[in-house]
Amino acid sequence: MHDDIRLGRVFGIEIFISYSWFVIFALVTVTLSFSLFPDQFPKNSTVANIAIGLFSSVLFFISLLLHELAHSLVANLNDMPIKKITLFIFGGMSQMSEEPKEPGAEFKMAIAGPASSLLLAAVFFAVYKGLMALGLSSVYYAAFAWLSEVNLFLAIFNLAPGFPLDGGRVLRAAVWYVTKNLEKATVIASKAGQGVGLLLIAFGVLLFLLGQLGGVWLILIGWFLNQSAVASFRQMALQQSLSNVLVEQIMSPDVETISPNLSLEELVNHYFLRFRFGRFPIVEGRSLLGIVTLHDVKEIPRDEWPLKTAGQIIEPVDENMFINPNDEAVVALRKMAENDIGHLLVVDREKDLVGIVTRADIVQLINVKSELEI
Ligand SMILES: [Zn+2]
Repeated sequence: MHDDIRLGRVFGIEIFISYSWFVIFALVTVTLSFSLFPDQFPKNSTVANIAIGLFSSVLFFISLLLHELAHSLVANLNDMPIKKITLFIFGGMSQMSEEPKEPGAEFKMAIAGPASSLLLAAVFFAVYKGLMALGLSSVYYAAFAWLSEVNLFLAIFNLAPGFPLDGGRVLRAAVWYVTKNLEKATVIASKAGQGVGLLLIAFGVLLFLLGQLGGVWLILIGWFLNQSAVASFRQMALQQSLSNVLVEQIMSPDVETISPNLSLEELVNHYFLRFRFGRFPIVEGRSLLGIVTLHDVKEIPRDEWPLKTAGQIIEPVDENMFINPNDEAVVALRKMAENDIGHLLVVDREKDLVGIVTRADIVQLINVKSELEI
């Protein structure tokens, strides 16, 4: 998802749209401009219908954005930082970097979305009835009538009790509240999400067989929901199998390190060619100074290799490249995934390098645990 377009920042939350979003935007605008509104106003010119279609479509997507913003603002108020909202083909998504800490917060965050859609439905309904009461032609209020219906539909649809839909989050919060067990609640809510997804697919197939093309859309949404529910289930299973496992328990303490005084000639011959890693940590004693990468060595002309030392081309390590030995393995895994790297240096509070942890170490542990069913 690197190629999303950044729209801007609202209340400290970055708003992005994915390219897939243009497909749905075009689809909605075309359906409104060339099918729904022409049916309602056969006397309108095509240009007028396109104008009402575009206007409605834009307000529809603003409604979706407000729905996501409502989630994000309530989440931020409850200590669940949300930094990013992405609009994509199936609607909107607020990306949470942490799980909620208690069921009450999850419930409030989840319900804020449908509540805002319901509020928008009421506002659009009032505008629609208001313009109608003024005696204006229906051309002026048709868009608001449609917007109020579609927001009402969004509120109801999102309340379907399948995780990760809003209703599924409400269900998870309820089970969590009763059982005091987040894992169990997530498993139940994501199973329900898979069920809701399959129901939508079945309903879509039925509609399609009855000659309704809209059925295809339901099949796609159902499939997407089912996949997201399966993914949340796996995520929780992973978290469970890694719970209470610390980085220091799975790291390897033997790291190939080099001294800052090593010449580049020796570095290439005895390290890069021998171990075939892309980078090495540079340490003095045990204290981590930085790293040297194959890329940096390549920048230096070959005849200077015997004269220059590793310390002269050292790169500082940024926070994303190391982890504390007392951190949980699941945190290490997340950090590697977020930064798209295969390993982290393990550095203790004194800035001493104490080991290295790789993605392969964690995956192996998960495999062994699932083999032993523990
Ligand atoms: Zn929502």
